[in-house]
Amino acid sequence: MNMEKLLKGKIVADALDEKTLVRVGKLKEKGLVPKLAIVRVGENESDLSYERGALKRCDKLGIEVEKHVLDMSCSQEELIDVIHSLNDDKSVHGVLMFRPLPKSFDEDVVCNELIAKKDVDGITRGSNAYIYSSKGSGFEPCTAGAVIDILKHYDIDIAGKKVVVVGRSLVIGKPVSMLFLNENATVTICHSKTKDMKEITKSADIVVAAIGKAEFLDDEFFSENQIIIDVGINYSDEKKKLVGDVNFENMEGKAIAITPVPGGVGSVTTAELAKHVVMAAENLTK
Ligand code: NAP
Repeated sequence: MNMEKLLKGKIVADALDEKTLVRVGKLKEKGLVPKLAIVRVGENESDLSYERGALKRCDKLGIEVEKHVLDMSCSQEELIDVIHSLNDDKSVHGVLMFRPLPKSFDEDVVCNELIAKKDVDGITRGSNAYIYSSKGSGFEPCTAGAVIDILKHYDIDIAGKKVVVVGRSLVIGKPVSMLFLNENATVTICHSKTKDMKEITKSADIVVAAIGKAEFLDDEFFSENQIIIDVGINYSDEKKKLVGDVNFENMEGKAIAITPVPGGVGSVTTAELAKHVVMAAENLTK
C-alpha cells in the first residue's frame, strides 16, 4: 500500500506516557500515589484484554491498580455498593468500570452512582456536562481523548478544519464531536439516518469513523488529501482478523494520513486512561 502516512498509535502512547511519568513523580514527591480501581463484572474476553493492557501501562508508570471483580450473578445493588465504597475511598483517584454490564442491569443508573471527579472514562452525566460546558468535574471517554491526542501528536491542525464524525454514540461520536468543537473545528455528525453521507464525508478535512461496522466506509466515502481516524474495532469473519470501519485496503492514493486498525486509536486508550488517573489525583492536591 502506498499510503502517505500511517498515524500509528504506539508512538503517541509512548509520548503521553513520558509526560504522565513526570506527573506521577511530582505527585509521589508530595506523598501521593495515584491509584486506579478497575470494576469488572464477569470474564468477558475483550474486558480482560483491555484490563491486561491497563495493568501493564499503570505498572510501567507507577500507578497503583486495585481490581474489583464481581460474578455475573451479582445483583445491581452489590455492584452499586462497590461503586459507593470507591467513591468514599480517598486512596482511589480513578474508577474504570467495564461495559456493557449484564442485560439485567440498568447501566445508566449504575454508571451515575460514580462521582464525576473519579470518572476517568467519561461514563457519568457529570462527565458529559463537563465536556459540554468545561465546568464542574469529569473526563472525556478515553477513546475520544485518544482521537484528539493522536492529531495533536502528529501536528495536525484542528482549529478551523471541517471535521465529519460518523457515529453519535455517547462513548465516542458525541463526546469526540464536542472535543473537536472545543478545539475550534467546524463539526458535522453523521449517523444511520444521514442522507447523502458520501458527499458529507468527502467534503471533510478530517473524518472520524466510529460506527462499528467492519470496513463499511470504502473509497467512495473519501476524497484526496484527507485525514482519517478509524475508531472502529471489528472482527471480520471473512478475514479472520480485526479490522476498522474503513476499508483500509482500497484507500490507496486517497488519504494523506490514516490510523491503522489494530495499532491506531486502540493503542492510545490505556495511555489516555493513565493520564486521566493522574489528573484526578492532581485535582486532589489543588
Ligand atoms: P455504537 O454505540 O453501536 O454506535 C454506532 C454509531 O454508528 C451509532 O450512532 C449509529 O447511528 C452509527 N451508525 C451505524 N451504522 C451506520 C451507518 N451505516 N451509517 C452511518 N452511521 C451509522 O458503537 P460505539 O460504541 O460508538 O463504537 C463504534 C466502534 O468503535 C466499534 O467498532 C467499537 O468496537 C469501536 N470502539 C473502539 C474503541 C477504541 O479504543 N479504539 C473503543 C470503543 C469502541 P444511530 O445512532 O443512528 O444508530
